[in-house]
Amino acid sequence: AKLAGKNCYRFYSRAIDQAVEQRVQIEQELRGAWARGEMSLAYQPVFRLSDRALVGAEALLRWQHPEQGVISPSVFIEVAEQSGIIDTLGPQVLRVACRDAMRWRAARDHDAEPLFVSVNVSPRQLRAGDLPATVAACLEESGLSARQLHVELTETTVISDEAQVTALLARLRLMGVKIWLDDFGTGFSGLSHLRRVPVDGVKIDRSFVADIPRDPDDLALTTAIIAMAHSLNIVVVAEGVEKAEQSSVLRDRGCDLAQGYWYGHPVDIDGFLALLHAQRAA
Ligand code: C2E
Ligand code: CA
Ligand code: CA
Ligand code: CA
Repeated sequence: AKLAGKNCYRFYSRAIDQAVEQRVQIEQELRGAWARGEMSLAYQPVFRLSDRALVGAEALLRWQHPEQGVISPSVFIEVAEQSGIIDTLGPQVLRVACRDAMRWRAARDHDAEPLFVSVNVSPRQLRAGDLPATVAACLEESGLSARQLHVELTETTVISDEAQVTALLARLRLMGVKIWLDDFGTGFSGLSHLRRVPVDGVKIDRSFVADIPRDPDDLALTTAIIAMAHSLNIVVVAEGVEKAEQSSVLRDRGCDLAQGYWYGHPVDIDGFLALLHAQRAA
């Protein structure tokens, strides 16, 4: 039994070693990936449910690894965050997103509603560095209006350090930047936080949208989030809408905006510009 235990330990220990090794490797390759031109942004369109108008896009980071192909941020964002690589990566993402959003303008009719760009910001970006200063610099450099920039933060980021985060968010909002709470509903923070934390929108996590309308609990929860958010003048975005049926149920429940594969996959800047030209022609 003792021997088996030892083997068992060895087995697990090897598995852990491999995981650590993989992490170290990702970290090494991630450092400098932006400078080597391996990283870019993809844009996923966001639509208004009431009239199906395109209103903006979420910027999503992509890593074109030389051997492994495109790697999802769900694999490397955590490493970027823990290693501090995000300290340089984060501001680059903001800069490019603002610059790209200015290019969208030229592709739209003059009287068309300006599109927003929504950028994901990690917890470390909020704690370290001066996010409002970085944002101000990116806006100035690009010429983008603050009203067209949205910042997405996860619910857990916001509650972990409420007082400090609230002050930062207030500064951003004063500039005119909109704040969205990402993955809403997964953090168990309860709805009470929404009264204290200054946010403009909540993004209902796709795990709740996935089983709509089949799962009555998910539908009830989503409906409750919409009602509560609206009573506080907060916009509601549904993520991960993959079927027409989900889209119509969400619209009927009063959800404001939606994004997901049913509306459009994330595409690179050229793909997004092509989408804008197609809209204009239509
Ligand atoms: P997120 O903010 O929740 O982004 C939405 C994710 O859902 C994206 O994955 C998107 O490609 C995917 N998605 C969109 N529509 C659908 C759908 O209909 N069905 C399904 N199943 N998935 C859908 P992605 O691009 O792999 O990003 C993963 C996460 O990485 C993001 O989740 C976000 O938390 C993080 N991330 C992405 N870009 C950045 C960034 O620039 N900075 C930071 N800090 N985090 C980022
Ligand atoms: Ca997001
Ligand atoms: Ca999300
Ligand atoms: Ca479910």
